[in-house]
Amino acid sequence: MSKTAELQAAIRDVADFPKPGIIFKDITPILSDGKLFRQAIDLLCETAGDRKIDKVVGIDARGFIFAAAVADRLGAGFIPVRKKGKLPWKTHQAAYSLEYGEAVIELHEDAIKPGETVLLVDDLLATGGTAAAAVSLLEKLDADLVGISFLIELTFLHGRDNLSQHPIHSILSY
Ligand code: 5GP
Repeated sequence: MSKTAELQAAIRDVADFPKPGIIFKDITPILSDGKLFRQAIDLLCETAGDRKIDKVVGIDARGFIFAAAVADRLGAGFIPVRKKGKLPWKTHQAAYSLEYGEAVIELHEDAIKPGETVLLVDDLLATGGTAAAAVSLLEKLDADLVGISFLIELTFLHGRDNLSQHPIHSILSY
């Protein structure tokens, strides 16, 4: 089996989570398997290409797991984009609507210096609302967004249409 096929086989579909009618892609079986977790991080790191990445930005909460490991591997800093009210310092905020519900995310005002190269990482691209909100925060800081990388893309939701100005990479697509 290819690396991506092994990852795909491990993902568990959970019906009616967190709301009726949603089929949730559960990535925890990848996290709990040392070999699969490393494969996922390997493949996400490859999406950076040849660019030197200054900061890997992860989105609350599963994005943190992947982004922090990618940052360590690339020798980059890790920056959290967090749900409202969690970051202690001064923040920029962006509101967005999820596949299920609404939310506000925040980024520390001093998290990234203008022109620093950034790779944005999250576990899954659905409608693209979350990632687009994160991109708007990075634009406020004049980050040089090198790419946006997801472990999983739900292509039928056309989320990448919301992110079209930036290179988007997904390891697995449905
Ligand atoms: P979007 O804003 O693209 O509609 O939703 C993506 C965000 O919601 C990501 O941060 C992701 O963690 C979360 N999400 C939505 N659906 C799923 C899912 O089926 N599985 C996982 N693991 N995360 C999901």
